[in-house]
Amino acid sequence: MEHIAILWFRNDLRLHDNEALVEATQKAKYVLPVYVFDERIFCGKTKFGFEKIGKFRTKFIIESVADLRENLRKKGSDLIIKIGKPEEEVFRLAKSIKSSWVFCNRERTQEEVDVQDNLEQNLWAIGQELRFARGKMLYHTADLPFPVSQVPDVFTNFRKEIESSSHIRPPFETPMVIPFPAFTEDRGVLPTLFTFDKEDVVDKHIENRKFKGGETNALMQLNAYFWETKNIENYKVTRNEMLGWDFSSKFSAWLSSGCISPKFIFCELQKYEKEVKKNDSTYWLYFELLWRDFFRLTGKKYGNRIFKKTGTRNINPGGSADIKIFDKWAKGNTGFPLIDANMRQLNQTGFMSNRGRQNVASFLVKDLKISWLMGAEYFESLLIDYDPCSNYGNWNYIAGVGNDPREDRYFNILTQSKRYDPQGDFIKYWLPELEKVPSQYIHFPEDMNVIDQSGSCVIIGDDYPFSMIQLKNCV
Ligand SMILES: Cc1cc2nc3c(=O)[nH]c(=O)nc-3n(C[C@H](O)[C@H](O)[C@H](O)COP(=O)(O)OP(=O)(O)OC[C@H]3O[C@@H](n4cnc5c(N)ncnc54)[C@H](O)[C@@H]3O)c2cc1C
Repeated sequence: MEHIAILWFRNDLRLHDNEALVEATQKAKYVLPVYVFDERIFCGKTKFGFEKIGKFRTKFIIESVADLRENLRKKGSDLIIKIGKPEEEVFRLAKSIKSSWVFCNRERTQEEVDVQDNLEQNLWAIGQELRFARGKMLYHTADLPFPVSQVPDVFTNFRKEIESSSHIRPPFETPMVIPFPAFTEDRGVLPTLFTFDKEDVVDKHIENRKFKGGETNALMQLNAYFWETKNIENYKVTRNEMLGWDFSSKFSAWLSSGCISPKFIFCELQKYEKEVKKNDSTYWLYFELLWRDFFRLTGKKYGNRIFKKTGTRNINPGGSADIKIFDKWAKGNTGFPLIDANMRQLNQTGFMSNRGRQNVASFLVKDLKISWLMGAEYFESLLIDYDPCSNYGNWNYIAGVGNDPREDRYFNILTQSKRYDPQGDFIKYWLPELEKVPSQYIHFPEDMNVIDQSGSCVIIGDDYPFSMIQLKNCV
């Protein structure tokens, strides 16, 4: 019998190092690749009423699916594109082409698990099977020095154990050909932002221009960051900056949609260390990728607890759901330039640096006393690189409900502003109304007297808001 396999693409929108693709081509004579835009996600809302996927990630995913289809076509294959519920659309296809199996990369967070469980149930009813592969992490779960239920809660312990006794497997080879079955049904058209009732993205900032979805762009970004610019050699020094493109790798958006595999990045990193240079910076990129594995494994260990207000530690952090206060934070109208600049960057591009994320999250939770879940959902909606485990895991940490060994971690935003944006270049880029404010006032422009304000062409209260609270520990 000439078996047909369906290859259901999810957050693994690539051909390189794709275990599900490799297994499908090895097992079946023909492979039918499918992607389903899940209408519940692309048209849905979060609990607090934000779009589940905002325009930035929607656009990025549409571009990624388009690129995947292109790359499949180059291999003599194609991509069937559907809009609907994956458990119904993939099932319907499986039934109509009488496939033998559906292959996919396994997801571990609840919404995704529900979809794959429902599909599996549907397939069982017609005597077919859902086969799972793994493709998210640097490390293979079977190679870890501890069972998932005993993943260390503290990152340093996790890292030390892994580094002393685990190895990273090499990436899978991309199959040379992906034989496509006889298929007479409609192959589906690529949706647009308009299909999901989302407004267009304005191409104004560097992040809008450079975050283009797809495996091809992911590999180009890797090539640029490593081989062309050699920016990787300074990563440890630059990674806490906030302005511009080159201070960090920007791999996150491509990693979250699976356009690039972490193992492939690691493999290139090793090559770079061997052929060009090995230093603290090259190690540090691996170190940060390890944080990603850590949060994913923490998500696996604690399940839905990462999404609950009480977090993995199961303690009540308090925090109100005051929408007026929250709105000022979300829109970047708090009167604190570091916070406002970062939030406006997020609202206009879908991206924010790690330094920015830590500060705005800490400010929301510790200074404004708002429930961290609102902030996490807002990030979920807007971040171009949203990843359930990395997002909720980091918010757990900042809210003090994760397993952070430093209890009550607090970011003093004025100190942080002075340290990481001494001249206010980042602030001035995102808050042009403060462009003429002298650097000694840029971190807290309210300190200017009326004469200084008019000399800087900004009247506090008119052109830029008064600070919404008095910060603890600073006057
Ligand atoms: C409140 C909060 C929410 C966050 N939400 C997300 C999210 O939804 N998706 C996401 O990918 N990252 C998230 N991060 C982590 C981090 O901010 C981003 O991964 C990073 O800023 C992306 O930029 P980059 O790719 O240039 O990172 P680089 O500094 O170049 O790091 C390389 C890669 O390492 C990983 N990484 C780095 N820092 C972290 C971290 N703290 N946790 C997990 N992985 C990390 C990412 O995959 C990143 O692409 C969050 C951090 C905070 C504080």
